[in-house]
Amino acid sequence: MDPYFNDDHRALIHRVRSFAEEAIVPVARELDHTSTFPWENVRAMGEEGFLGVPIPKAYGGQELDALSYLLVVQELARYDASHAITVSAHTTLGTTPILRFGTEAQRERYVPPLARGEVLGGFGLTEPDAGSDASRSRTRAIRENGGWRINGSKIFITHAGVGEIFTVTAVTDPERGSKGITNFIVTKPTTDPERVRQVGMGTEADLGYIDGVRAGKKEDKMGWRASDTRELLLEDALVPDENRVGEEGQGFINFMKTLDSGRVGIAALSLGIAGGAVDAALEYTNRRKQFGRLIFDFQPVQFRLADLATEIQAAKHLTYHAAWLMEKGRPFSKEAAMAKLFASELCMKATIEAVQVMGGAGYTDEYPVERMMRDAKVCEIGEGTSEVQRMVIARHLVKEMAEHM
Ligand SMILES: Cc1cc2nc3c(=O)[nH]c(=O)nc-3n(C[C@H](O)[C@H](O)[C@H](O)COP(=O)(O)OP(=O)(O)OC[C@H]3O[C@@H](n4cnc5c(N)ncnc54)[C@H](O)[C@@H]3O)c2cc1C
Repeated sequence: MDPYFNDDHRALIHRVRSFAEEAIVPVARELDHTSTFPWENVRAMGEEGFLGVPIPKAYGGQELDALSYLLVVQELARYDASHAITVSAHTTLGTTPILRFGTEAQRERYVPPLARGEVLGGFGLTEPDAGSDASRSRTRAIRENGGWRINGSKIFITHAGVGEIFTVTAVTDPERGSKGITNFIVTKPTTDPERVRQVGMGTEADLGYIDGVRAGKKEDKMGWRASDTRELLLEDALVPDENRVGEEGQGFINFMKTLDSGRVGIAALSLGIAGGAVDAALEYTNRRKQFGRLIFDFQPVQFRLADLATEIQAAKHLTYHAAWLMEKGRPFSKEAAMAKLFASELCMKATIEAVQVMGGAGYTDEYPVERMMRDAKVCEIGEGTSEVQRMVIARHLVKEMAEHM
């Protein structure tokens, strides 16, 4: 019995696993090969409520707790990381900045279609010259006719092609550094209108797209290949002031707060991949024989899997503890960075080890572990690299030391 879960959490895990076994397992390999966005499954995940798990019912969501949301991401990732990042990026990065920092009018307009999974959302922070140092944004918003003329380019944006609603950062006061950055909601049509119509998604009639907002080149990635990653271009886009999210100058700090939650999501996603890889390795090594014995019966293999199972348990404690702090409204920035750092590095290690103990079979696409190994890498990069997580943790250590002096 897991101390973190109540009956509702256990039922949710069961529901996500059933969904994944029926809808994801049969198509995951092909989607990865062809780098195809899984529209049917995204629609089905919307119908299951997976695209609005922590969002209040008043805004079209399921109003479940933070742990429930993380469990959905984790359990999807056990089967396919691309489906999991679709839910995670849409929810934490795409929807919650509007819910948390937006006006009531913005919440009422944009959150329900996102939470119901009718349209996909995203978050545009990274730029060609602003990666780990995200405060170096060059996207510029200049006041014009009661609105803002925005020019700039965001790169590596999850859902930039398929999605329609984005919160982006832009510099409104270049003199003030990170305190001169503001958030705006921008909208654009999806790059897949036919598929969207076929599966019954999209809100073309009433969303009100902004001219000059468009998706750029699609990235051909090592992993997360069925997730959509592209440039998001802002070319003379005239954005009304009513689309400004939060106060002027609050954009950077609000995005950092959003990233804290996002990092716990990536920790959960990493846990899912790591768990899926160890399960696959356990199953295979208890079936395959060499030298007259099961591969699992060789002690070095047992020790590897035992170590990984122990580290997965440690990563769960870090992740669920961060989720608990998040749920209680307590500070959790350091704990989010710790959970993300530990779980993502573990996920990389677990998938490499799983391939190793499965030998040549693990290296082929007959088994999911080679895909999991490719999917794991970006967990150490997205939403702040491992180095950035260490910087965040170290900053907290110094701050805590100063507070105790
Ligand atoms: C698949 C994918 C999806 C993504 N989705 C989104 C999204 O939806 N929205 C969004 O805004 N962004 C998104 N990103 C961008 C992601 O957050 C960045 O790639 C990440 O923050 C790293 O930035 P960078 O790629 O510019 O690397 P860089 O900042 O150029 O870093 C390169 C290397 O230098 C290291 N480094 C940099 N500074 C330091 C330092 N001070 N000390 C030590 N080492 C350092 C880094 O850790 C890294 O190893 C996505 C990226 C990927 C790959």
